[in-house]
Amino acid sequence: MSQSEMTYTADDYDIDAHVPAPEALRRLEAGNRIYVEALDHERDLSPARIQELFEKGQRPFACIITCADSRVVPEHIFMAGLGELFVIRVAGNVVGPTELASAVYACEHLHTRLLLVLGHTHCGAIKAALDGEGGPVAAITDRIAAALGDVHDPYEASVLNAQASVAALRQSPEIARLEAEEGLMVGSAVYHTHCGVVDFLA
Ligand SMILES: [Zn+2]
Repeated sequence: MSQSEMTYTADDYDIDAHVPAPEALRRLEAGNRIYVEALDHERDLSPARIQELFEKGQRPFACIITCADSRVVPEHIFMAGLGELFVIRVAGNVVGPTELASAVYACEHLHTRLLLVLGHTHCGAIKAALDGEGGPVAAITDRIAAALGDVHDPYEASVLNAQASVAALRQSPEIARLEAEEGLMVGSAVYHTHCGVVDFLA
């Protein structure tokens, strides 16, 4: 079933209703399979859907923090439609105060129960950090360099950088509480830039 075939019931918009984290994760995995296999690239971007989301409000089933890289587009990668993903994009998928506040908003106010940091291979920000670049990009590369330590393997660097962002998210008392008490799942994944496959990390 494509994402566009998923129907919404009134409960989806109930103030207390949310998609449980395991179901949210299953949707992302299924969406990425469709994307990689090029089975179906149709989504509902109709005026009717735009109007429906405006009237009923958004209830994104996952919050994705990922890189600003133009090749890493969560709505495509997971075959998600309007109103389904709350996406925070910043070079190197680092988590600073503004990214953290955005994630808290999604999890607390929109009741999103899956918070996923999506790193990717061949990330320019990680390469810049590995090359010791600073200056105007230091706000990002310093954070990445601290996450990597002595690691230079490109894939391992992508994993470590994503996991460092997860750790930064968990510094938030709100995120920690939602994870402990409200079924929030916080995790990381790596997108393979050359082929489109997402590795969901433990
Ligand atoms: Zn990147």
